[in-house]
Amino acid sequence: MKKIVLLGQVNVGKSTFFNRLIGKPKAIVSKIPGTTRDRNFGICHWQDQDFMIIDTGGVEEKKAQNQIEKEVKKHIIKAIEQADLIFFLTEIRPLSDSSSGPPISNFEREISRLIKKSKKPCFLILNKADNPKKRKWAQNQAWLKLGLGEVSPVSAANGTGVGDLLDKTIEFFKKTSKIKSKKLELKIIPLKVTIIGKPNVGKSTLLNTLLGEEKVIVSPLPHTTRGPQDTLIYFQKKPLLLIDTAGIRRRAKIKLSIEKIGVQKSFETIKKADIVLMVTDVSENISHQDKALLNFIIKKDKGLIVVVNKCDLKKSYQLWNPLAQWAPRILISAKTGVNVEKIFPLIQRVNTNYNRWIDEKDLTNFLKEIIVEKKFEEKIWKRVKIKQYGIKPPKFSLQVSRSMIRRKSIKQAQINIIKKELRKRWSFEGTPIKINLIT
Ligand code: GDP
Repeated sequence: MKKIVLLGQVNVGKSTFFNRLIGKPKAIVSKIPGTTRDRNFGICHWQDQDFMIIDTGGVEEKKAQNQIEKEVKKHIIKAIEQADLIFFLTEIRPLSDSSSGPPISNFEREISRLIKKSKKPCFLILNKADNPKKRKWAQNQAWLKLGLGEVSPVSAANGTGVGDLLDKTIEFFKKTSKIKSKKLELKIIPLKVTIIGKPNVGKSTLLNTLLGEEKVIVSPLPHTTRGPQDTLIYFQKKPLLLIDTAGIRRRAKIKLSIEKIGVQKSFETIKKADIVLMVTDVSENISHQDKALLNFIIKKDKGLIVVVNKCDLKKSYQLWNPLAQWAPRILISAKTGVNVEKIFPLIQRVNTNYNRWIDEKDLTNFLKEIIVEKKFEEKIWKRVKIKQYGIKPPKFSLQVSRSMIRRKSIKQAQINIIKKELRKRWSFEGTPIKINLIT
C-alpha cells in the first residue's frame, strides 16, 4: 500500500484534515512501532484504492529562535524516508498583502528544504480555504516558489477540495507506478534469504549442496543490490540472493568446523533478509542461542523455515520451537543430499505466503463465519471490520469503536482465535501475521 506522510505545524488543522482523509471519526489508535514520538496512521479509501496516511504529530517551532528543534527534525526526516508521497499542510493566506496574513514562515521554508533534499514527491496543501475568495489565494506564485510541486487549496473543515486532491493523488500514483514497473524490469529485486544456525550444524555443507544443484545457476554477473558477502543465484529463473554467505563458504574451504560466529553477527544478517533458513542438528536440543535467534526473527517479522539437518544419523527429532509454530520444518541431510532439492520450492512457497494479500470481501465473510462459529458476542462483533493493510508479513486491522476499546470488549484471546483461523483458511505457512486494533 502506498504511504502518504502528513506534515504540518500545529494549528494548521492537521488532525481535522487527517480525520477527513480517513473518514471521521476513525483516527487510529495503534502506534507505528519503533518510533519515539507519536506517529499515528490511518487508511484512506478513495475510488477503490487504499492509501496509508501517516501522521507525524503537530510540529511546533521554537518560538524564541524561530527554528525547529533538532529532535523533531530527526523525527520528520525519518517520516519522510518512509513516504511514497508527502502531504505538506499549511494555512492558506494572501501572501502578497502582508497586512492580511504572515508571509512564508521560517518553519515552512525549513520543512521545504528537508522535503526537497529528500527528493520525495510532495503536494503542498493549503488548508482553511473555506470559500472561493480564500481559494483564489492559492494562485499566488509564491506558493509554487517553495518548490513543493502541486498546490491544492482545501478545507478540512467543510471538505472542499479534498476530493480533487485525492483524485490527483491517484493519478500521481498511477503515473509513477508505470515508471517504476519499467525500472523493475531492468533491475530485478531478488528475494533475500539467509542461512543461520549454531556452528557445526552443517550450514556450509548445506550451502555447497544447494549451490551444487544443477538447477541452480550462480550468477556470474555483477549485481547492483548484491554485497560482497552475498551470492546471487537463479532458481527456476527467479533470482534469489543468499545473504552473508562468504563467511560460511570460507570456513568450509579451510575446514574450520568449530568457529564461533557471534549471535550479534546473525542478528545483523537476519535484519537484511526476507526469509531465514535456520539450520539445526537433528541430534541436538534447543539452546539459549537458538531461542534468542528465534525470538529475534519473530520480532523482526521475517519469514522462517527450520531446516533440521543430519537426518542420515537420526530420523526423529524433538519438536522444539513452540515459539514459531507456523514455521515449516524440513528434515534433510546436507551431506547425502536427502530432501535438499525441496528447500528452494519451500522458500518460494513461504515467499508467496509472506506476500499474500486477501481480498476485503473474503475477509469480511471470513469474520462473519468466525463470529458464528466461535460464538463471539454478535452485538459487539457485527460492528467490527477486518481489512488487510500490509504484506511482508501480512498485516490486518480490526476496526472497532472507541467505546469497544474503552470497555475492552475485544479480547486478546479472540484476536488469537482470528489469527489461528486465518491460518486455517489461507496458507500462511512460514510467515508471521499481525493483527492491530484501530478505531
Ligand atoms: P557449519 O559450522 O554450520 O557451517 O557446519 P559444517 O557444514 O562445517 O558441518 C559441520 C560438520 O557436520 C562437518 O563435519 C560436516 O561434514 C558435518 N555434516 C554436515 N551436514 C551433515 C549431514 O547431513 N549429515 C552428517 N552425518 N554430517 C553432516
